[in-house]
Amino acid sequence: MTTFPNGNTALSLTFDVDAEAGWLGEGEEYARRLTILSEGRYGVVRGVPRILDLLARHHIPATFFVPGYTAEQHPGLVDTLLEAGHEIAHHGYLHLRSDKVSAQAQAEEIERGLEVFERLGVPTPRGYRSTSWELTPETFELLVKYGFAYDSSCMGDDRPYLERWGDLEILEIPVHWSLDDWPRFGWNIDGGGNVADPAEMRRAWIAEFESARAERRHTSFTMHPEVIGRPYRLAELERVVEHVVAAGDVWFARLDDIAA
Ligand code: ZN
Repeated sequence: MTTFPNGNTALSLTFDVDAEAGWLGEGEEYARRLTILSEGRYGVVRGVPRILDLLARHHIPATFFVPGYTAEQHPGLVDTLLEAGHEIAHHGYLHLRSDKVSAQAQAEEIERGLEVFERLGVPTPRGYRSTSWELTPETFELLVKYGFAYDSSCMGDDRPYLERWGDLEILEIPVHWSLDDWPRFGWNIDGGGNVADPAEMRRAWIAEFESARAERRHTSFTMHPEVIGRPYRLAELERVVEHVVAAGDVWFARLDDIAA
């Protein structure tokens, strides 16, 4: 059992603002696929404002993982997130999968992401989440080298834990596919995903929250603005939030606060 500063359990809402980078990082051919890029853009144009509205109404601070490319393409996005009191964390530059690219490209993903944040006035990110949660030894070493306080890509526990590679270790705030909106709703024309009933997400996430509450542990949900930002899905997220708020003994926390 863990003691939390405010409540018997802690819940983090996390959002990966992949936007166009989520597709461009898959391959150069996506640069001419205007429809799929527009769906990514929808996440910033329509998803993020709705999410911020929901978070503000319930006074919830959250963590947004923003690829450097997304921050560059959408001026004002990071300022809006910071002004609303949310954490901005590192999610690569062009959303390249660590396991698919060279060590050099992995280093560029980390370094360009840091450079963009610095140029745009974003505080040095404390946390990192790898694209598609694929973490490699090379990127692991970079996280330690650059002094990240936590990673949020692995699944070795359902409580924060130390993930290790060789002699190195980093605080891991774990994730899981079942606590992610993408496997439920991330359908695209090339296959994969489906268009699931969002009520299933609500039932599963409330059950996960209740199990975390019974065990007095932290848990988190991972979402993507272009996915959860569709109104009928966001309505189910709001029902999850209302359930959690009604429990009355919960600390809604940014991941950097969990890490601290
Ligand atoms: Zn992502």
